[in-house]
Amino acid sequence: MTAAQKIQKLRDELNLHNYNYYVLDNASITDFEFDIKLKELETLEKEHPEFFDANSPTQRVGGAITKNFETVTHKNRMYSLDNSYSKDDLLDWEKRIQKNLGSTDIEYTCELKYDGASINLTYENGKFVKAVTRGDGFQGDNVTENIKTIRSIPLVIQKEFVSNFEMRGEIILPLDGFNKMNQERLANGEEAYRNPRNTASGSLKLQDSSEVAKRPLDCLLYQVVTEERKYKTHFQILENARNVGFKAPKTITLAKSIDEVFEFVNHWDIERHQLPYETDGVVIKVNNLQQQEELGYTSKAPRWAIAYKFKAEQVSTVLNEITYQVGRTGAITPVANLEPVQLAGTTVKRASLHNADQIEKLDIREKDTVFVEKGGEIIPKIIAVDFSKRPIDSLHTVYATNCPECDTPLVRTEGDAKHYCPNEFGCAPQITGKIQHFISRKAMDIDGLGGETVDLLRKEGLIENYADLYDLKVEQVIPLERMAEKSAKNMISGIKKSKEIPFEKVLFALGIRFVGETVAKKLAKHFKSIDNLMAATFEELINVDEIGERIAQSIVDFSTDLGNIQLINRLKSVGVQLKVSEESLQNQTNKLEGQIFVVSGVFHQMSRNELKKAIEDNGGKVSSSISKKTNFIVAGDNMGPSKLAKAQDLGISIITEQDFIDKIS
Ligand code: AMP
Ligand code: ZN
Repeated sequence: MTAAQKIQKLRDELNLHNYNYYVLDNASITDFEFDIKLKELETLEKEHPEFFDANSPTQRVGGAITKNFETVTHKNRMYSLDNSYSKDDLLDWEKRIQKNLGSTDIEYTCELKYDGASINLTYENGKFVKAVTRGDGFQGDNVTENIKTIRSIPLVIQKEFVSNFEMRGEIILPLDGFNKMNQERLANGEEAYRNPRNTASGSLKLQDSSEVAKRPLDCLLYQVVTEERKYKTHFQILENARNVGFKAPKTITLAKSIDEVFEFVNHWDIERHQLPYETDGVVIKVNNLQQQEELGYTSKAPRWAIAYKFKAEQVSTVLNEITYQVGRTGAITPVANLEPVQLAGTTVKRASLHNADQIEKLDIREKDTVFVEKGGEIIPKIIAVDFSKRPIDSLHTVYATNCPECDTPLVRTEGDAKHYCPNEFGCAPQITGKIQHFISRKAMDIDGLGGETVDLLRKEGLIENYADLYDLKVEQVIPLERMAEKSAKNMISGIKKSKEIPFEKVLFALGIRFVGETVAKKLAKHFKSIDNLMAATFEELINVDEIGERIAQSIVDFSTDLGNIQLINRLKSVGVQLKVSEESLQNQTNKLEGQIFVVSGVFHQMSRNELKKAIEDNGGKVSSSISKKTNFIVAGDNMGPSKLAKAQDLGISIITEQDFIDKIS
């Protein structure tokens, strides 16, 4: 046998043993024998560096250090899931789907909702190439080196499957491993980790992958994204994924109706406490992949799937004090400071009270005993007061009248649930919050500058607003606490680089109340520059598609404020992008203005995403399902037959990829 053959044989063997042990839970070799083979392979690989392979089993021990995790744009967006809480919710969902598909012949898969951190694994030609966290769904962090250390994730697919695909799953920490980790920490005098989910997601961002390798992480798979149409159903594709090496839990079950879905829910609502990992619900999916494609997505989640949340755990505890927090837009959030209590695996000390109406509605008072529940959010909420335990000297809650930070009288406008501190330029958390928002990833994305540093810079009097950032000098920053010369330089160059950030993101970064990411995009597209936007009247603003009175008023308020005008002028003078660039203007036309497109099938000249972008750049709209409003369907190969029938039924023009390209060129 040549060295190459020996190496290959050892790799194959070790991969198989890994699979038997970590995926099938059925060891086919002792640890000792495994280690001997691994050592042997290591030695051979060292002697023959020409056969290096990033996916060899020897590469799983870690060692790579990642200082900054690279941001990667997902090829296919990672959506969130809609939630449901009752059988009625599920029946409503079923009705919507049946109507949408024009059929009652629908089968479902039921899966557990694994509670960890989502991950997207990319495989090309059957080989693992990268792992990216979900992030905001559009882009995440490249954590490939860390993920490689998880033994249940195959690095090479040896059997027949699709060749190019994204595998989606959840990185979890099984309860056993989590408890062991905590025992060790406590023995070392360290603080125990709070819960498995946060520890799992924290592990992905450790800089030293050999540390990750020591943690008993696991990966449970739940979706394959591929353009190869080899399998017809979700169930089939997961079964096959399991056969070729992925840990797709066997709990996945087929259901013919919502009744059968409910049997699954009821079973696991009780049995979940016996599982080796945490789950907070069930995910129900339409099984047929063709039907999934026809149903498509809303702006947030697939229409073909829904999560069902198990009833949250509840505890009761004493509310010691109500305090108030001020957000970056001046919004006041009342906070309940609780007597610490254990809830769903974490210690809870605070709960959000939302707003004055909520406090009034539930009649929540200091010193009350309250019921606390943990839903999907990280911050638990108070759901009711235990009136039987109310002290006799209890006093009705009087909501704050002045800002807890700057003492300015609070205001509340008609129809708004929240109180605000109007002292925009003089209230500390608003000043800091605005700057923190400005530098955040979806906004100016300034590398090397974090929230804590902003605090520090403010305290040292070096900045008062976001425009001040651009006047900072390295020499001013170095003397700051815990600031080395290198990080100071990084920070200044990060600030400088942010001058290239495109206008739509700058507009979002400005932190105008109610102008979120999507609204900023719309406004940038419509007005093309900050000057046009700030000159727009209320009427002009509400005439823009999807801009309502609330947003319009907020923009008018912003634009007429002298402080803001000065800030914008300073940003302009330092060269921040305050208008749409020539380059992106060139690619944009109004050729498709007012036209609604549905894209279906597989394309050859551009990817689906490029096609959608081209529609939007030319003024058209993309919708994911066919309706009377649809003007065109761009059809690629393998367009769904029922989509086709629906389009013909409604008399919608079906055009090819080439027709579309001709249309815009
Ligand atoms: P949410 O974050 O509540 O919107 O729920 C969506 C997330 O649930 C996804 O990003 C996945 O990480 C996670 N998830 C856990 N189990 C499943 C499953 N079986 N199918 C789909 N998503 C799941
Ligand atoms: Zn204030």
